[in-house]
Amino acid sequence: MTIGVWILGNQLNHGQAALASVGSQKAPIIFIESLQHVKVREYHKQKLVLVWSAMRHFALELRQQGYDVTYKIADDFAEPLTEWVLENKISEVWVMAPADKPFLDIIKNIQCHITLIPNNHYLWTHEQFAQWASCRKNLLMEYFYREGRQRFDILMNGDKPAGGTWNYDKDNRQPPKGKLNTPPALWFEPDEITQEVINFVNSLTIPTYGKLKEFHWGVTRTQALEVLDWFVNVRLANFGPYQDAMVVGEETMWHAMISPYINIGLLHPLEVVQAAEKAYIENKLPLNSVEGFIRQVMGWREYMYGLYHYVGADYPEKNYFNHTEALPEFFWTGDTKMNCLHQVISQLLRIGYVHHIQRLMILSNFSLIAGFSPQQVESWFHTAFIDAYDWVMQTNVIGMGLFADGGIVGSKPYASSANYVNKMSNYCKGCEYDPKARTGEKACPFNYFYWDFLDRNRDKLTNQGRMSFIMKNLDGMSEEELKAIRKLARDWHKDTKKYILN
Ligand code: SF4
Repeated sequence: MTIGVWILGNQLNHGQAALASVGSQKAPIIFIESLQHVKVREYHKQKLVLVWSAMRHFALELRQQGYDVTYKIADDFAEPLTEWVLENKISEVWVMAPADKPFLDIIKNIQCHITLIPNNHYLWTHEQFAQWASCRKNLLMEYFYREGRQRFDILMNGDKPAGGTWNYDKDNRQPPKGKLNTPPALWFEPDEITQEVINFVNSLTIPTYGKLKEFHWGVTRTQALEVLDWFVNVRLANFGPYQDAMVVGEETMWHAMISPYINIGLLHPLEVVQAAEKAYIENKLPLNSVEGFIRQVMGWREYMYGLYHYVGADYPEKNYFNHTEALPEFFWTGDTKMNCLHQVISQLLRIGYVHHIQRLMILSNFSLIAGFSPQQVESWFHTAFIDAYDWVMQTNVIGMGLFADGGIVGSKPYASSANYVNKMSNYCKGCEYDPKARTGEKACPFNYFYWDFLDRNRDKLTNQGRMSFIMKNLDGMSEEELKAIRKLARDWHKDTKKYILN
C-alpha cells in the first residue's frame, strides 16, 4: 500500500498529524494552491501571500529533507489530487482533518480514497470539548480556561492558580496615557520565493481585499519562532496593562502578532503558552501580562475552536436581533469620517491585522449597534483578516462580537457607546464627531446607534441580567431625545455617503 500525504495551507508543521503518522517513511507529499478556492471570497492580498509563500517554503524544506514533494497551482483541488494519485500509484491519501467545516465538505466530495487523521494542532479534541460542554448548563469561557490550565499544568501551583487568582484582568485594561514607548514589531523583508508570490498575487484578476504595497510577515517556522521569541523577550512584560488600548500610529503595541503563524501551523499553541510560562518562571515577568496572554491562547483560541465544532449546523445563520442592514462600502475602503473606524480599517487594508479590541469594540461593536447583517459582517471579517478562518470567525463574530447566537458565547452583548472608544483610545481627538454628543449635528454615530440598539431590542435585552442597569438608563431618557436618536439612526442608513471622507 502506498500512502500519500496531502498537506493543507494551514497545516504547515513537521509535527502535523498526517505527516507524523507516516513516521520515518518518506511518503509522497502534495501541496495544492487552488485558484478556485480563493474565488469563494475576496481574501486579503496579504493573506494570500502569507499562506502561499509559507506553503512554498514548507514544500521546499520537505524536499530538502528528501521527501518526494509535488506542488500544484491549479483551479481546484480534485483534479491535481486525482492525477497525483494515479501517477504515483497511491492507494490512500492521508490528510490531517481540516479545522474548517466547509473544507471538510470539499474533501468529502473528492473521488479519492482519503483518510482523515485527527487534527493535532489544538489542545482540545472535539470529543474532549464535547465532554466538557455536555455536563454544563453554561459554557462560560472562564471555566473552560481554568480546566485547560489544570489539564496542561500551565501557571499552576499544585491545584491552585499561580499567584492565587485565575484571572488578572483587573490589573490590565488600562487606557493609554502619555508617551507609551512601544517596542517595534519584528517584520521581515520578502525573499525571492515571497517576492514571486507577491508578483503572482498582484497579477491575479480575481477580486481581492486590501493592499500589497509592502509585505513584512514571516513565512517560515524559523521566522515564526523568532517572532515568538521577540514577543516573549521584548513585548510580553508590558503586554497586559495596555492590551486593550488603541492609539493612532501605534499599529501593534505590545501584541504578540503570532495569530497568523499559529493559524497556519508554523507555531503550536502549546509551545506558545509554554514559552510564556517559562518567561514568567525564569525571567520573573509580571503575572498579569503572562496570564492575560496565556488566556488569549489557551482560553479564547481553544474555546472558539471547540465551540465551533460543538454548535449545530445552523449556527452560521443565527441572527438573534434580526439585523439586516447591509455593510457599508467604507468597510472596503476605510473612507469614513468616523476616525476610529477610519484608523482601524485603514490599518487592516495595509497589513491585514488589527488587535482584539479594535476588532471587538470598534468593528464588531459598531456592526452590532448599527444593525448590520451578522452573516455579512462574519463574511467581511473572514475576507479582511490575515489570520481569519471559518473556525475563528463563526463563533468570534456571530457569537462574541454580535451576540447573534442569543448568548451561547457571551453573557451579554459587547455593545458600547463612544464612551468606551474615548476612554481606551485617542481616536476621538482627531474626529469630526463629538464623543459626548448623542444628538445634534456633531453627534457621534456610536452614541445614537448604541441607544437606538437598546431601544429597538428592549424585549430581548431587559431580561439579560447584566443589562438591567443600562436598560434603566434607557428608561430614564426623554421621549423627545429618543425620537431624535431614532431619526439619526434611520437617516444614517439612508445616506451613508454623508459619512464618507471627501
Ligand atoms: Fe469614533 Fe465617535 Fe470617537 Fe469619532 S467621536 S472616533 S466616531 S467614537
